[in-house]
Amino acid sequence: MSKLPERFGCQVFNDKVMQERLPKETYKALKKTIEDGAHLDITVANVVAHAMKEWAVEQGATHYTHWFQPMTGITAEKHDSFISPVKGGAVILTFSGKELIKGEPDASSFPSGGLRATFEARGYTAWDPTSYAFVKDKTLYIPTAFCSYTGDVLDKKTPLLRSMEAISKQAVRILRLFGNTQVQNVVPTVGPEQEYFLIDKSVYDRRPDLQFTGRTLLGNPPPKGQELEDHYFGAIKPRVAAYMADLDEELWKLGVLAKTEHNEAAPAQHELAPIFSTNNIATDHNQLTMEMMKQVASRHGMVCLLHEKPFAGVNGSGKHNNWSLTTDTGVNLLDPGTTPYENAQFLLFLCAVIKAVDDYQDLLRLSVASAGNDQRLGGYEAPPAIVSMFLGSDLMGVLEALEAKSPYDGGVEATMELGADVLPTFPKDTTDRNRTSPFAFTGNKFEFRMLGSSFSIAGPNIIINTIVAEELDQLATRLEKAEDFTKELNHVIRKVIREHKRIIFNGNGYDESWVREAEKRGLLNLRCAPDALPHMTDPKNIALFVKHKVFSEAEVRSRTEIMLENYCKVIRIEGLTLRDMLRRDVLPAVMEFSRGLAQSAGLKKALAGDIDRSYEETLLRKVSSLASALYEKSEALASALDREQPADMEQAAHYCHDEILRLMDEARVVADQLEAMVGSKYWPYPTYGEMLFSIKE
Ligand code: ADP
Ligand code: MG
Repeated sequence: MSKLPERFGCQVFNDKVMQERLPKETYKALKKTIEDGAHLDITVANVVAHAMKEWAVEQGATHYTHWFQPMTGITAEKHDSFISPVKGGAVILTFSGKELIKGEPDASSFPSGGLRATFEARGYTAWDPTSYAFVKDKTLYIPTAFCSYTGDVLDKKTPLLRSMEAISKQAVRILRLFGNTQVQNVVPTVGPEQEYFLIDKSVYDRRPDLQFTGRTLLGNPPPKGQELEDHYFGAIKPRVAAYMADLDEELWKLGVLAKTEHNEAAPAQHELAPIFSTNNIATDHNQLTMEMMKQVASRHGMVCLLHEKPFAGVNGSGKHNNWSLTTDTGVNLLDPGTTPYENAQFLLFLCAVIKAVDDYQDLLRLSVASAGNDQRLGGYEAPPAIVSMFLGSDLMGVLEALEAKSPYDGGVEATMELGADVLPTFPKDTTDRNRTSPFAFTGNKFEFRMLGSSFSIAGPNIIINTIVAEELDQLATRLEKAEDFTKELNHVIRKVIREHKRIIFNGNGYDESWVREAEKRGLLNLRCAPDALPHMTDPKNIALFVKHKVFSEAEVRSRTEIMLENYCKVIRIEGLTLRDMLRRDVLPAVMEFSRGLAQSAGLKKALAGDIDRSYEETLLRKVSSLASALYEKSEALASALDREQPADMEQAAHYCHDEILRLMDEARVVADQLEAMVGSKYWPYPTYGEMLFSIKE
């Protein structure tokens, strides 16, 4: 096998390959498109397409696909082969610039939230040259954006690119104020840490709930869970290690910077962290990572579960979205730096983020709202549903000193004047790294921890980029008008701290008292997706998206519909799955077990006559009464599912939450009690213990 540096990215049409394969002029023109968004001439596109095809065919590709990210949250692809017929019945392999730049998948079956009626099925995909094409499964993958013919976006990539543009524009304005004339572009950088579960395929195959919904709808906690804390960072079992090695290898070939693999807190739970890259590429790569995780697992006889809460009572899976801003000159704008100039600039960017998180708690919360994540947020070892920020005690001390115009920590003699004095060094907060905070500053980046493990990271980053762009815009507008820049700078920073420090919480987010404290501070607590999602169309939010050209009003409304509709669909599928499991597997199994009890009890009575009640009879009575209750619950669930849903999506989502989910939970309580009583050979499903410890060595 070749060396890793050579294997890395060997299936990617990256800059190195482009440089080798494209005529100099073409390469330059393409670079201009990639870096400055310059229009790509069709003659250039033809040359690129040809070179791409030649290269892809050498890698074994026979097909190409426009790979896009519809609002389903997963990626979609339609494969076309390179063949084209020539005289005499032969074929040649061709690929034109037009085919590279634009594709026309039949768009009618992707969610559009009313933007594109089904009869108007035409939508098109457009090549995104800022994310490299790659070869996978004998196919050339071309990352694309997806739009309707009327120009409405139907995907997650387009608004992400727009939000990146918005934040770049505003960040550059701020840098100009600090006298920086060099920087042309600022990009958000993102490193998403991905959690997942691995279980053996044999147990998965016997759980219809996992197969249809991704999570277990029934099941008692195992006698041994995560209480011994022996799994987190524990030794990795050989079978899992082989999987991780194979996964890394596959991802590296695709140019994904998979860096760290380790065990997580729950049994069977693991994590993969990549090295960060630009927001756009990080998003594409995270989608690829999730796909490869599943694919590689199946090669190893395992199943990778990406659901946020596959097992109740056990840690759920999230995704930590590490986010920062980097200039095209390579400077991380969230790094405090060492000079007064760097410190002041850092604090201004920091304040923009603080104000953004406070002003748009609702958007951040709804960007992570889904049926799956509802099972996790607020639950055990997951950030609460309340959005707050963690800055660490050192940085907090600096802000407090600034606000009070008092010396920081006694270390500085006079009142600190930003832009003139060097801040006292505030080391990276490693001591009290707060794992419970939803939005934590970790030294030179923010970590947004509320994302669910199955999420596309596009959604939450669209929100972060746009809200920070807005705050930077407001700050820049004020500062541009200032007569005395330094004075105004000190003034605005103090103002932000004073008005928005309520969003900063450095304590334990899992503590009950925090909920009350947050309420006192006037912070939002949007407990479930149906409460959170409708805020997307609040007038202030529509105004925000329209102003920064991230979404049109119609796009905001359609997206909200899609998210609510998706929520309803997921809950309905869960409800139907549980109904069938109870009716067709659980109740019959209980009956079978009861029959044995009844027979045995009857036999004893016949033999021994009027003895004291046998244990079989006692147990039979208990089981029967639970079974009757379960039957009633399952019928109540069935009729709630049959009832006509409200036509209004918001109401429908509340119905799903308040009725269907509630009935499911009630049924589960009874079914789980039965599981604990019914003989194991009768119970139709593998237990939690069997699933969580299914990978033995
Ligand atoms: P920590 O010790 O705080 O967890 P790591 O260096 O292990 O920090 O990084 C965690 C994740 O954050 C990784 O995926 C990493 O690539 C990402 N990360 C680091 N720096 C940045 C940055 N400037 N922008 C975005 N993500 C970053
Ligand atoms: Mg982390």
